[in-house]
Amino acid sequence: MAEQKRDYYEVLGVDKNADDATIKRAYRKLAKKYHPDANPGDKEAEAKFKEASEAYAVLSDADKRAKYDQYGHSAFDGGAGGGGFDFSGMDFSDIFSDIFGGGGFGGFGDIFGGGARGGRNNGPMKGANTRAVVNVTFEEAAFGCEKELEIYLKDECPTCNGSGAKPGTKKEKCPKCGGQGRVIQTQQSLFGTIQNVTTCPNCNGTGEIIKEKCTSCHGSGYVTNKKRIKISIPAGIDDGQIIRNRGKGEPGVNGGPRGDLLVEVRVASHPIFTRRDYNIYSTAPMTYAQAALGGEIIIDTLDGKVAYDVKPGTQTDTKIRLKGKGVPTLRNDKVRGDHFVTLVVQVPVNLSKDAKEKLKAFDEASGDSLNSSHEDHKKKGPFGRKKK
Ligand SMILES: [Zn+2]
Ligand SMILES: [Zn+2]
Repeated sequence: MAEQKRDYYEVLGVDKNADDATIKRAYRKLAKKYHPDANPGDKEAEAKFKEASEAYAVLSDADKRAKYDQYGHSAFDGGAGGGGFDFSGMDFSDIFSDIFGGGGFGGFGDIFGGGARGGRNNGPMKGANTRAVVNVTFEEAAFGCEKELEIYLKDECPTCNGSGAKPGTKKEKCPKCGGQGRVIQTQQSLFGTIQNVTTCPNCNGTGEIIKEKCTSCHGSGYVTNKKRIKISIPAGIDDGQIIRNRGKGEPGVNGGPRGDLLVEVRVASHPIFTRRDYNIYSTAPMTYAQAALGGEIIIDTLDGKVAYDVKPGTQTDTKIRLKGKGVPTLRNDKVRGDHFVTLVVQVPVNLSKDAKEKLKAFDEASGDSLNSSHEDHKKKGPFGRKKK
């Protein structure tokens, strides 16, 4: 209780007037450095990680930050045992998936599990998040779709309603902790007698023990079911992005809300299009004659085939932009990116005899015209002599 806490701004190494982006950046840097996955078994790193997470939890929340600015650490006293900071309402999964990619952020629950929940073992807690992957086509990602997913989901056992006790029997008060869920350990040390409050190992902090286990769930209170879940994929989603379905994860504990279902979207590549943000890139062929004389070509777009008038004298590798033919944006599907098309002259192969003759004749007729813009050539006659 008497432990001196460092100033949150100092912990993150930011100015008192730092904006949200700066605070997030600072925290991200520290979290990466001290994350337990990166420092297995390192207690000091773990402590630093907790300290930074606590500072971030407060400073990233406008309300909490205002309270902290006014009252300092005492704004949050009276929480979980001994000035401990209460993380139970925090949702770090967004920032963690930001920092550590789509993969798990194991260790986080472990770290805050014990500490933050200590002293409120029977309070409601949000259930764990469940993860799944969904595969969609390029077009489905662009325009959105509905998908049905099959997932294995933990649910409360219907036989015992989640109690874990055999129907007709009751849970009993844990004899070791007397139903408190906590036990006090007394240690002698250099500084005198230290009392540690820890979670009761006999009942895992629930304060109750099961005498006769439910046979359906073997006392766990949970069963796992295969479930089909419909999820809607919003237009504009990109490969690797995660859709959060609130309340579709594992059941909460002691009446807490269910966790979330986090669905990672994997977008298949397209045979013709590539995508960068909301823009699409592709190439379209034009014949030599179309490039030289101009004419209509047909371009494949997300909306189907589109006619485009090639200007006479269009060079190969000319890039054109089809405005608003890109991918709809996530924020507003009426607003779309652009489609950039590189026009490429197709050099003909396997020419017929007739076509070859005509091409030769064309070549002779066009003569120096390829270089007609070049002054030197303009002034030259048919035999390379300069005209007077
Ligand atoms: Zn059961
Ligand atoms: Zn107990």
